[in-house]
Amino acid sequence: MGYIKVAYRNIFRQLDYYTNFPVGWDKFVNKNAKYHNLIIKSSKKKCHCTNCNYDFISSKKVNEETRCPNCHNKYLIKRSNLHFYEFKDYLSILDILDNILVIRYFELKTIIDEKHEHHSSVVEFAREIITNKYGRSIYVNERVSKCQGHIHIYHHNNEYVNDKKWREYVRYYSIIDFSIVFPNNIKKVLKNTKFKYSHIWDLVRNSVYIDLSKLLKYKDGCEINKIEFLAKMKLYNLALKTNELNNEGNFQEVFGVSKDYYPFMKKYNITYTQLKILRLLKEKNIKKIRYLERYVNYKDNTDDLEEIANYISLDRFIKYSKMHHKKVKTYLYKDYLRFAKIIGLDLKNNKYAFPKNLKAEHDKLEEQIEIQNNKIIEQAISKRSKELSINKYNNDKFVILPAPNLESLQDESIQQNNCVRTYAEKYASGMSDIYFMREAKKPKKSLVTVEVKNNKIIQSRIKNNEDPSESQMQFLNKWENTVLNKVA
Ligand SMILES: [Zn+2]
Repeated sequence: MGYIKVAYRNIFRQLDYYTNFPVGWDKFVNKNAKYHNLIIKSSKKKCHCTNCNYDFISSKKVNEETRCPNCHNKYLIKRSNLHFYEFKDYLSILDILDNILVIRYFELKTIIDEKHEHHSSVVEFAREIITNKYGRSIYVNERVSKCQGHIHIYHHNNEYVNDKKWREYVRYYSIIDFSIVFPNNIKKVLKNTKFKYSHIWDLVRNSVYIDLSKLLKYKDGCEINKIEFLAKMKLYNLALKTNELNNEGNFQEVFGVSKDYYPFMKKYNITYTQLKILRLLKEKNIKKIRYLERYVNYKDNTDDLEEIANYISLDRFIKYSKMHHKKVKTYLYKDYLRFAKIIGLDLKNNKYAFPKNLKAEHDKLEEQIEIQNNKIIEQAISKRSKELSINKYNNDKFVILPAPNLESLQDESIQQNNCVRTYAEKYASGMSDIYFMREAKKPKKSLVTVEVKNNKIIQSRIKNNEDPSESQMQFLNKWENTVLNKVA
């Protein structure tokens, strides 16, 4: 159980015993609980709205969403044999006490029971003190328990659950970060803080789930100005990602698109992910942007799309994706396109840009490129070997010569049981030279494999990576001194 600083304990006591919820909180909770409803569908297309209890007929299917004709809310359709359904949302309030900002976190839970009646409750389970230290200071009460690795929040009230007893939350994984923030009091709470002109209250009103703590932590004046700047431009979702945008410059330099995109960006309050796609797509089309969002990996990672856009327009990629039921494996596709480009296939032609069997075509091109690579290495090694042939040397017992080709490296590798074949690329690029030292009488049988760099022997190995014998070393030293060192 973590120790709580006296100052924080005082804040928690004030919140527990003396502070009222801000005006409008109940309305806010009820508004969010309204989303926790279903349309229950029974036989003959009969539908029932659990929000307003209105009955109507609809041919929409189970697990689709539909709008109730009475209350006009959109809900998920479930079958009438449903016994239990649960909704959870996380709400938060920002407050300030003794000049310290604190976020209170609540779980809003609704259960739809077998009679299809709904029961909502909201309980406070965590509080966060905003500090300028690294890491977060989160405290939880007795409603929080860990059961088989899962965090559970008790909603019922009984003598065993003391929701006024707080402890520090010390686990590595975060218990809460994103929440639906109560907007009404934020401007007032931030009135005497460095955030007084930040317009964070506008972001809260215009976005759904927000990491409020991240927005308030470690912010210097420059960053707060940026939030204010973006909020005033009504680019609320982008204001949540100030760290991703350039600090200075004109519109193009800050957002990566030209200024005539601004009305479009404002109209759809575009997110940072959507902006990244817009930069690639270069078309004011929210439908296409939302379509492409399914190919954005976790967080805002648009790397695959960026690579694909190097080879074909994203418009064509959408076409290809639709042909494949929206399930193109982009990590394969981007490689496929790269291979196709190297080999010189015409990607303007759909025959090459839109492979029917992506995996098979990918593997085919990969193999072709490997063969091509080997060819390039092969040629380079032969050339290098010819250049080095002036270093050929022998006495009556031994002979040393540069590895003549790729095949000989592979052969040496097998005979000597070493990894010299993996040196092929280094050899081909001139980073190091490979020589074979052999007995003059048995020139085909491996004896010592020698690596030379800048005319110095850096490795000499006999079979199984052992060191050469004394007489072999004498030969190599003489070769190094008389032949290699004479060559510039
Ligand atoms: Zn309704």
